Amino acid sequence: MANPLTPDVLVDPVELTRTLVDIESVSRHEQAIADHVEEVLRDAAHLSVDRLGNTVMARTDLGREQRVVLAGHLDTVPLNDNFPSTVVDDLIYGCGTSDMKSGVALALHLAATLPDPRYDLTYLFYEAEEIDSKYNGLHLVSESRPEWLLADFAVLLEPTYGVVEAGCQGTLRALVKTTGRRAHTARAWRGSNAIHAAGEVLQRLSDYRPRTVTIDGCTYREGLNAVKIAGGVAGNVVPDACVVEVNMRFAPDRTEKQALEHVHEVFEGFEVELTDSAPGALPGLTAAPAREFLTAVGAEPAAKLGWTDVARFAALGIPALNYGPGDPLLAHAQDEHVEIGKIRDGAATLHRWLGL
Ligand SMILES: [Zn+2]
Repeated sequence: MANPLTPDVLVDPVELTRTLVDIESVSRHEQAIADHVEEVLRDAAHLSVDRLGNTVMARTDLGREQRVVLAGHLDTVPLNDNFPSTVVDDLIYGCGTSDMKSGVALALHLAATLPDPRYDLTYLFYEAEEIDSKYNGLHLVSESRPEWLLADFAVLLEPTYGVVEAGCQGTLRALVKTTGRRAHTARAWRGSNAIHAAGEVLQRLSDYRPRTVTIDGCTYREGLNAVKIAGGVAGNVVPDACVVEVNMRFAPDRTEKQALEHVHEVFEGFEVELTDSAPGALPGLTAAPAREFLTAVGAEPAAKLGWTDVARFAALGIPALNYGPGDPLLAHAQDEHVEIGKIRDGAATLHRWLGL
């Protein structure tokens, strides 16, 4: 199949967004889009290109003092009667328009049209962000090609509606367990009811006052919530076990270990079992390329409350933030769309920042 990413398309980030949306790339089906992107990048004399699975990396080597990563995932969630794209006035509708082919389009447009950027640039177009993290292209790169990620600063072009969203909160899930003693409900006094004992766990959750933390001007709001509860043996048995699953979202000034210690403190006297956790990422807005980026955007940063792949860069000590034209509230929605004006604004901002 001829590559639809022609030179005419690459120079126009809006046309490029549409063209990328019209290459179907639901997670685990990124081969076609990765092939097209790789071919375009290999045609650019100023880039050296490598590939791992369906993740494509391209970089300049101009001997600049600083290196910046621009990254975006190529995959989308499953189609939902929203393929191919359609245009209505200033809006492009279609699966992946917001999350995040408009962001990928900005990076690919720059890769093709900016041979002489102010910093050395590494472009990462990666696979499988929307599914289990064991398939995530950035995760796979961090395991087997960590040198691809080395940089002074990274921008993920995930949808933020043109706002700089810095850092991200960490997340932790744990089981809080209560125990009791089984008995026939006709002689309940011989047992001890573990579901009733969970009342105290729920009370502590209701009474919990989460922290609000401001770091580098970004305000993070923590949360601790029950997300599931399980218990009970049969309709005539006093239950001897109950489990409340809790999810804590924590500001990036806490490590995973400190967050777990905090959960242990909140549920002192109960058994707490960690099931999984992922670290947050500090906003890292003090690095020189980050400060210059904020100047180019010309607006105050906001805190990222969800967990995103910026944490993978933070784990390597690389400050990273999210900035993209899509509206995050439309990600994964059936009527997903992106504003053409936001794509043009984003391209202008990145040219202002990265052009000489
Ligand atoms: Zn995304």
